[in-house]
Formats: sequence, structure tokens, C-alpha cells
Amino acid sequence: MIKEKIEKLKKQEITSKQNIESFLKVIKEKNKEINAFLYVNKGAVKQAEIVDEKIKNGKAGKLAGLAIAVKSNINVKGMPVNCASKTLENYNATFDADVIKKIKQEDGIIIGMTNMDEFACGMSGTSSAFGKTINPKCHERIPGGSSSGSGAAVAADMCDIALGSDTGGSIRSPASNCGVIGVKPSYGRVSRYGLIDLAMSFDQIGPLGNDVYGCALMMEVISGKSDYDAISFDKPVEKYTKFNKIEEIKIGISPEFKDMCDDKRIYEIFENLTKKFAEKTKSRIIEKNLKHVKLAVQAYYPIVYVEFFSGTRKFDGRKYGKKIEESCGEEVLKRIIGGKEMSKAEHEGTYYRKALRVKDLIRQDFENAFREVDVLITPVVPAIPPKIGKEITPEVMYFFDALTVPANLAGICSGVVNGEIIDNVPVGVQISVPSFKEKLLFDVMKTWQDLNT
Ligand code: GLN
Repeated sequence: MIKEKIEKLKKQEITSKQNIESFLKVIKEKNKEINAFLYVNKGAVKQAEIVDEKIKNGKAGKLAGLAIAVKSNINVKGMPVNCASKTLENYNATFDADVIKKIKQEDGIIIGMTNMDEFACGMSGTSSAFGKTINPKCHERIPGGSSSGSGAAVAADMCDIALGSDTGGSIRSPASNCGVIGVKPSYGRVSRYGLIDLAMSFDQIGPLGNDVYGCALMMEVISGKSDYDAISFDKPVEKYTKFNKIEEIKIGISPEFKDMCDDKRIYEIFENLTKKFAEKTKSRIIEKNLKHVKLAVQAYYPIVYVEFFSGTRKFDGRKYGKKIEESCGEEVLKRIIGGKEMSKAEHEGTYYRKALRVKDLIRQDFENAFREVDVLITPVVPAIPPKIGKEITPEVMYFFDALTVPANLAGICSGVVNGEIIDNVPVGVQISVPSFKEKLLFDVMKTWQDLNT
């Protein structure tokens, strides 16, 4: 567990170098099969030696010596940031994203760049131009995506903590399928500067880890206002790692999420675990209607298509890599063409503006619910993840986002904790809190983790 490891590193019972070398060994053994990493940092051991010196001198930061894996759409200077696409195959980042600057300041060591669905479009981990990622916890099923490599790297013990990005569920889906912890921060909590965007009005960078402590620690490091990201909020970052045990809270559950959950076994497990959690914490469960969440997927995609089309105009082959339309995969191309058509139709407000109105209704639904409950607990995935190799139609793919996109539309903060195993594959539970209540989220997640382990 991360807290104990940090203690050991501090006391020099283990060195950063040993920590990094042991992960590199696992990566060497397993990555051929799992394909979680697209690139491994050749300088990691050297950097670890420098951190060890700092530890000896008592000058090391909060993440000193920890191995951090980074999704391949977040700029890390000198490393390939290719979005798992042929379009950016030869692009090496020329600067550090804000989150990377902060990680480096705290002496975290970037161990490598992880695989993902191409340009973060997807939920399967199978649309990378550089080969699919295997789910370390269940080899025959998809690991979830788009932060598939980050989820798999954590689940396969190839790093301490990983960064992913979540536009409509891309941190929470692999966290659930790979049986790890993941957090999508409130919109504006973490700077997006240096993240290659899928849809700028939803994207957030967040952590995946094997325990709540690791994710909370990473959030302490990467949260906060940035001069380079106008929508990053100037709210103080609380001490997320100082956990309070949760008692006597009001837990909201939504009948609409029950209807949207196709596999009733998932809903049953979620319901049982939530009831047990409520009993143990002397909390109350209250049903709350979120009337418009059933429209979430229909509202989400037009917004994503239009923003993605706009965001990808810079990939015209002149400055970065190849022209995107000539080098990308099917799903990416579909979004570009669709986004272009929708943008053209926009003078009549046909898609985008309508979708924005629904987005607003969903945000209001959550606001109303949070007037009466402290947290909302829901399932993460509506069905067991498909088997690898089975064709995933667009309908199925988009349907898998139904339970995660509402949080992005509402801009709130949601985390995934461990649930149970069904058909040999992990199924997580999603906990959501109002915007900027990350501290409460981590308290609830930690209490959940402590009561279930
Ligand atoms: N599956 C969703 C999509 O394809 C979410 C992706 C994400 O969060 N990056 O848009």
C-alpha cells in the first residue's frame, strides 16, 4: 500500500532505485502480453538515484521515489505522446503538462507512457493503433477505456499510481473492469494544460491506483489553479489524505440508474454493498430521482463530436505528425466527420445547443439531489465488459457510457471503489459528490475501502 511504501522510502528501508527497478522488471515480464505501456522511460533509474540523494538529505517531495505511469495524451517532455494514434506516432512532447510539472516537483518518477483508445475515443482499450490492452484481472475481457493502459498498469503492478483522463468515464471504466481505484475530479479542479483534449468542456485528468490513499495523494499534488487553464478554479486544495471516518450521512440512490443497468446482477451487488455500507456507517439511504440522466448519452455525444472536431483541426499534418483524417482509425474519423456536419448545422441550433440544454437539466438534477443527500452511490458499468475479439458495435460502446457520462455533464466529482467479481471480472461501485467536494469523496471512498477489506 502506498502509505506504507512512502514510509519505507523515507526511512530508506527501500530505495527509489529498488522501487523503480522492481517495476521495470514486472513491465519487462508482462508488458508484451498486457500491452499497458507504449513507452518505458529509459532515464527512470537515473532519476531514482537523484531522488534517493534527496531522500538522504531530507529534501524529497511527497511522491518521492514512486513510479507514476502516464496516459499517452498527457505531455511529458521528451517522451512520445501519441494518443495511441498513427497521427502522432513520431511526436515527442516539447513541454510538461501542468500535472507533470507538479509530479516532478514532488519527486514522482514517470515510469512510462500508457496505452489508450485512440485519442481517448472509446471505452474498450481495443482501438489503439499500437495494439489492444489486456485486462490483467480477466484476460478474455476488455480492460475498459479509454485509460486502458493506466488501469492495466496499476492492476498488473507495473507502477504505483497512474494518470488517466476522463471525458465520459475513461478513468472510471478501466478502474471498474480492472478492479482498481479511480477518480474523476470535479470539472476545473485539475489543470488541463498539456492534455490533448477529447472534449474540452468535459476532460479532466485524474488518478488510478491500488488504494484510496494513493489516489488522494496524487489529487493533492495535481489539483489547483493554473494560469494556463482558464477554467481551473482558484479553490484551496484540501488535505485529501487526512481521512475522516464517515458516519451518519445521507446516501442517495437513483431509480433511473437501476433502469439503465442492463445486467441486474450488477445492480443487485451494488445495492447489497451500499446497504451494508449504510448499516455499518449508520447512514440513511434515500431514493432520489435524476429525471434527465437517461438522456445523458444522447446529450454527451453531440457535444463531444463538435468539440473533438474543433480540437483536432490542429492536426493538419503541418506542425504535428500526419493529417488526422488520413492516418486515424475508424472511431476517430467518424467523430471528425460527424462533428463537422453537426457544426455546419449549428446555425440552426440543431444538435450542440440542444445538447447543452440537456446538459444543464442534468446538472440541475444533481444539484437538486445534493440538496437532500451528501453522496450518490451508483453502479459504474451497465453490463459485464465484452469479451475481447467480439465486435463492439457503436450502440453497445455508447451504451456502456450511460452510467458514467452524467457526472461529466454535471461537472461533479466521482470515484470508483472495489465492488465484487462477476463472471471472473471485477465490477466497481461509483460514488459521486457535489463539485469541489473531493475531500468528502475521499473520506467516503476510504471508509468504504476500510469496511470492505
Ligand atoms: N467512452 C466515452 C467516449 O468515447 C468516454 C471517453 C473518455 O472519457 N475519454 O467519448
